[in-house]
Amino acid sequence: MEISFLGTGGGRFTTLFQKRYTGGIRVDGLDNYIHIDPGPGALLLSNKTGLTPVLLNAVVLSHAHPDHYTDVEALIEAMTKAGTRDRGVLLSSRSGVECVDGFGPVISRYHRNMAGDVKVLDDDVSVELKNNVLIKSFRVKHSDPSSCGVVIGTPDGDIGYTGDTTYFSDLPNKLRGVRVLIMNVTRPLNSDITYHLSTNEAIRLISKVEPELAIMTHFGYNMLESGVEEQASVVEGETGVNTIAARDFMKVKVEEEIRITKKQSKILDFKSNL
Ligand SMILES: [Zn+2]
Ligand SMILES: [Zn+2]
Repeated sequence: MEISFLGTGGGRFTTLFQKRYTGGIRVDGLDNYIHIDPGPGALLLSNKTGLTPVLLNAVVLSHAHPDHYTDVEALIEAMTKAGTRDRGVLLSSRSGVECVDGFGPVISRYHRNMAGDVKVLDDDVSVELKNNVLIKSFRVKHSDPSSCGVVIGTPDGDIGYTGDTTYFSDLPNKLRGVRVLIMNVTRPLNSDITYHLSTNEAIRLISKVEPELAIMTHFGYNMLESGVEEQASVVEGETGVNTIAARDFMKVKVEEEIRITKKQSKILDFKSNL
């Protein structure tokens, strides 16, 4: 499987100023093309980096905040070839498809009907894709009470994604056994905040899950100011687990070995033109 980061920014200010991109994460492999949390720029950046969005067979929305949901509808259009094919599955938090405590619905009825299938994420909801790839969700603790994280089970091992959440005692159990752990670490060391992971909480989580590779992403403004590479090396020092701060357009190949490419290739020209 190949993981591509179409953005590593998170939170209101990083998103508003596009200090890091916010296009979400693509997980591709074994004839599956999965887009997780397509925030602002997801459609544009998919096209610009050659991650053809019309190939998608799954769009995943973890919760109803705009840095996660703004491009969901555009990608449902891509997945269904502008609504001409009855294909693909939308996996969405309840707040994507109905109102939950004032959150959502953020996906129009028109687009929900357009997707080949719609699955509402919750604890232990799983959806089978092609070639023994499985997406399984679990509830997390964030301001949108229906927020979820996911584990993508693949023949090459499991890939975990926390979504936006605070640390809670059952979180490590949900992610137990993953080879790669992607965490939305919005806040730096010693700056815990409700509903989000800080570097301190990332350390707690990684120590319990012990993945082969831990990836920090979804950086808020303060986190970026603190230096995300430094934050990642503190985490690695404390946990002994190989930990990196994601970069925009970074790719991680999960095969027998796990390989990381941090180079920005095709997108460079585009970025320097902005
Ligand atoms: Zn977020
Ligand atoms: Zn959020």
